[in-house]
Amino acid sequence: MTPSRAVVANQCEQSNRTRGSLPGPEAKIDRLHEIRSMLRNAGLRPTRQRLALGAILFAKGDQHMSAEMLHVEAIKGKISISLATVYNTLHQFTKVGLLREVAVDGTKTYFDTNVSPHHHFFVEGGNELIDIPDAAVRVGTPTLPEGYQLACIEVVIRLRRKTR
Ligand SMILES: [Zn+2]
Repeated sequence: MTPSRAVVANQCEQSNRTRGSLPGPEAKIDRLHEIRSMLRNAGLRPTRQRLALGAILFAKGDQHMSAEMLHVEAIKGKISISLATVYNTLHQFTKVGLLREVAVDGTKTYFDTNVSPHHHFFVEGGNELIDIPDAAVRVGTPTLPEGYQLACIEVVIRLRRKTR
């Protein structure tokens, strides 16, 4: 690790303190309890809707979901909720550091349950983000404008399938 890398390494880190590791699928009964305390620790009241969406988001390990994808999952799980409420909840979760927002372009935003520093591949025309470990991307840092400090470096590498 080069010295400049070390400076960048933790810049994107959000409040990991609120994030507990959740039990595996076998611990079904404990899961809602875990999510409830995760929300409480983050300063959010564990409402029925937040718990329901939290269960979808955080129960399966790290994933990237758009509001639309989460809404579809909620409907499949017989949770009656509007897309607007899904959006609001995702933004509330992001604000307290439970999720990280990854904007791919003007129209596509994903919410990442992995809030630790890392980067992404995005397949053009697809609907999926693939994680890249933080250490695998090296970005030179240009001289910053005076009066500013580096907040975060997030890289999205766009891919397209090879045409023969
Ligand atoms: Zn990710």
